Amino acid sequence: MTNKEFLARRDKALPKGAATAHPVFVKRAAGSEIWDVEGTHYIDFASGIAVNNTGNLHPKVVGAIKAQLDDYAHIGFPVVSCEPYVRLCERLNALAPIDDAKSVLFTTGAEATENAVKVARFYTGRQGVVTFTGSFHGRTQLALAMTGKVLPLRAGVTPSQAGVYQVPFPIPHHGTTEADSLRALDHLFRATIAAEQVAAIVIEPVQGEGGFYQAPPSFLQALRALCDTHGICLVMDEVQSGFGRTGKLFGVEHAGIQPDLICVGKAMGGGLPVAGLIGRAEVIDAAPPGFLGGTFAGNPLACAAANAVLDVIAEESLLDRAIHIGRRIETFLQDLKASGNTVPVGDIRGLGAMVAFEIVTQANTHIPDADATKAIANKARELGLLLLPCGYYGNTLRISAPLTITDDVLEAGLSRLASAMQR
Ligand code: PMP
Repeated sequence: MTNKEFLARRDKALPKGAATAHPVFVKRAAGSEIWDVEGTHYIDFASGIAVNNTGNLHPKVVGAIKAQLDDYAHIGFPVVSCEPYVRLCERLNALAPIDDAKSVLFTTGAEATENAVKVARFYTGRQGVVTFTGSFHGRTQLALAMTGKVLPLRAGVTPSQAGVYQVPFPIPHHGTTEADSLRALDHLFRATIAAEQVAAIVIEPVQGEGGFYQAPPSFLQALRALCDTHGICLVMDEVQSGFGRTGKLFGVEHAGIQPDLICVGKAMGGGLPVAGLIGRAEVIDAAPPGFLGGTFAGNPLACAAANAVLDVIAEESLLDRAIHIGRRIETFLQDLKASGNTVPVGDIRGLGAMVAFEIVTQANTHIPDADATKAIANKARELGLLLLPCGYYGNTLRISAPLTITDDVLEAGLSRLASAMQR
């Protein structure tokens, strides 16, 4: 069957809401490469939305899953405990930039962010939650209320979760400086909700879906100080920025601060669904027995995979590799932009291998061109490169290549990208 025939079946069987960026049906994937049902080859710069940091089917991850399958697949952590879950939490506790940490596992990133809020509310006895414009924290109702993007996420169901407020995320070239964001917080605390009623400030150290905008280290430090002053929990949503993507295991490490809670997911499971919440023991331990969990939370196969992912990150020096890959991609993009032969490119930015660039209507401006951005992603696919548009203004192309990508495959992908961006 062709992609077209599979798509017809798909469109008949699935609701429109379950959208897919590219009209491609996968047949096989390995490392940083994907083949569709028609045999077309693609280089993967999407990593299944920043999941395949260790590539598709990393042999160590596959081996760990197979070994786990010899013992048991599901026991239900609320019923009996299992070692791979505990080992993963021990390792997260040791690796996270939180002294005296404890961790709990879930299945999806949305569960991690929602539980961070639940824990912060329980610990502080307060209800207020502050998040940022352009943020993405998940598609379930509370996570959606925290998420800072109307289309295509909140429109039609604009969630009215009590106590959730948003302030502008600092993006100086789109008109909001760090000082503006801090002023907006000050206004929020004066005009709308007292800081002493706020349980948590939740922020991505580098916005993912919002467009790979880094929260400046000085901004995160200012938020830490604000949270200390007012007894607010500082929550890092590292679901997209975590697990080596930025050249550190956790993106917040670039700011040198300790958050109270960290949400993780995506790349942690090496392709299997597992998420988690890491927290300062005093905060996360406040929740009573039964408050945290889920039927599939911390599935043993996913925990075995996640333990292998941590081994691979260390053994293959993937943090260094993230920095190397990121530098190469950024240099390539700067050169491409300077050549003047492409559609107009705006801001180019990156932290480790979390690199993105904007497409603008005219060179030397920051006026977003969301249509041209989509057109480049489509053209790239036709040329055998999978990449995903994103961004608050819809004009960002993000590159989340697996950290295990070889130099040869990376160069081949960049050359396809150059062709897709030709004027
Ligand atoms: N937080 C961030 C920063 C994310 O990028 C995502 C997913 N894109 C989520 C939370 C939600 O994760 P999930 O889709 O696994 O629920």
